[in-house]
Amino acid sequence: REAKHYLGVADDLKLSVNAIEVLKKRYLKRDEFGNVVETPGEMFERVASAVSAVERRYEGDADDARKKFLSMMRSLSFLPNSPTLMNAGLPLGQLSACFVVPVEDSIAGIFDALKYMALIHQSGGGTGFSFSRLRPKGDVVRSTGGIASGPVSFMRIFDAATDVIKQGGRRRGANMGILRVDHPDITEFIACKDRGGMDNFNISVAITEEFMRQCERDGSVELINPRTGEATGEMSARDLMVMMATYAWRRGDPGVVFIDRINALHPVPGIIEATNPCGEQPLLPFESCNLGSVNLSRMVERGEISWDRLEETVRLAVRFLDDVIDANRFPLKQIEDATLRTRKIGLGVMGFAEMLIQLGVSYASQDALRIAEELMAFITKTAREESCALGRERGSFPLFEESSLKKWDAMRNATVTTIAPTGTISIIAGTSSGIEPLFAVSFVRHVLEGARLIESSPLFERMASERGIMTPALRAEVARRGSIQEIPGIPDDIKELFLTALDISPEQHVRIQAAFQKHTDNAVSKTVNLPEKASVSDVIKVYRLAYELGCKGITVYRYGSREQVLYLGEPD
Ligand code: ADP
Repeated sequence: REAKHYLGVADDLKLSVNAIEVLKKRYLKRDEFGNVVETPGEMFERVASAVSAVERRYEGDADDARKKFLSMMRSLSFLPNSPTLMNAGLPLGQLSACFVVPVEDSIAGIFDALKYMALIHQSGGGTGFSFSRLRPKGDVVRSTGGIASGPVSFMRIFDAATDVIKQGGRRRGANMGILRVDHPDITEFIACKDRGGMDNFNISVAITEEFMRQCERDGSVELINPRTGEATGEMSARDLMVMMATYAWRRGDPGVVFIDRINALHPVPGIIEATNPCGEQPLLPFESCNLGSVNLSRMVERGEISWDRLEETVRLAVRFLDDVIDANRFPLKQIEDATLRTRKIGLGVMGFAEMLIQLGVSYASQDALRIAEELMAFITKTAREESCALGRERGSFPLFEESSLKKWDAMRNATVTTIAPTGTISIIAGTSSGIEPLFAVSFVRHVLEGARLIESSPLFERMASERGIMTPALRAEVARRGSIQEIPGIPDDIKELFLTALDISPEQHVRIQAAFQKHTDNAVSKTVNLPEKASVSDVIKVYRLAYELGCKGITVYRYGSREQVLYLGEPD
């Protein structure tokens, strides 16, 4: 039976056409025949009720919390990650976006991880794995007298399984595959997408401090067999760096994660080997984390940041995300146990680019860097204070006494902030994604099943109209080009405000990421856009700058280097 849509009927929410399209396709509750049976407003009510219900356990005022959560989502000031919107209050009830599953060096261990991945994908979560513990290709297998096939061959099984599972789910599964830079199979890993496949993986190389030191002095890194702990050979660090940068230049993969730095800054005991699919959430084995983002474009009043409103939203969002941990139905006992030991949450932001435009600040300016730091320092400080208040009320997370946070008198969550990509929730909120600049002033977005959505910046529409320069011809020209920088007749101040991802230097992209990272507990999702004509050494410069500025990882994307979901101008 055709789905019967009755969207918008009972809603006074001002959602964009694109937002409604996305919600209808994947988020709104359906009956057993597949008919959509809720409006976006009812979706928010479902989420607010399910999440606030756990307040009763702590003798909180659940009804008061429900009203506040509802109003925060209805006003699009804050949205939780997609699984919370999709599953809260429904039988599945799995609310987290991010998981890390360990992969042991045994057939049973590997296939356990594969099974766990399937269960997590089915519930709407994304999975990250380190394959670094697997013995290298050609190593001995004592039980059979055979030889091992290596991490990359096993990754292909995870990739194939993801393909099969996604046909049954609402979200195509997403994976992160990580290998340490000193694993003997590192070059095969870096090149693993050459043979095709692996479309369900983002891959990242885990870079050590030792590797960075050897790069500096043009030395070599020892390749170590994880099974024996013995060196099997060595490679020039710079050759490896060039190889990574060349592949990233060609197609955006691999990214890099600075794994020693991640561990050095991690507040609780345990070793982190991997992150979630988009890299913003490093996690211990079997940990999961739920994310949520404040819509910064709603935090501006009369051209200035409304710190009061931001504070209120952050405090409420922390409470919401902590409640989500208790409202959550975890797909696996190990995941529940690991998650409840640290109670990590990841509050972040979206709409940063739109906020800057409203403040009259160019994304390419020093002011943008200053605002980024100030903003994130404020958010993390406020979020910690709220987590501390929750800790006093409800108890600290169980590993608190063993953590570097014990200088506080209590703390409910081992981490409080993460900057997610907000790929879908920013569409629902109708703002720019995460901390990215506008991708284009107007562009065509490819969504599921070949559908295309034309989107143009409402702020540009408004400003150009106010200044009396908006004409049908201009609108068409902006849609054709994406960028307004070369269009005659547009005043310079408008051009400066509406810089797009490719109008901004790679260096500024990295500096913005670093400014946010400085005050973010977990990591930051950001793409450093490079122009089509950028070189491999430009990529290496980006890596080095990211390292110097304290980033936890970095991903580059050279325009046109692989199939993409966003296109500038009209696609063919
Ligand atoms: P959203 O906007 O849908 O809440 P984000 O784009 O912010 O999600 O991504 C946050 C995290 O959610 C990712 O890093 C990943 O862990 C998970 N995720 C995103 N897309 C998918 C997907 N298609 N399948 C599974 N997990 C996903």
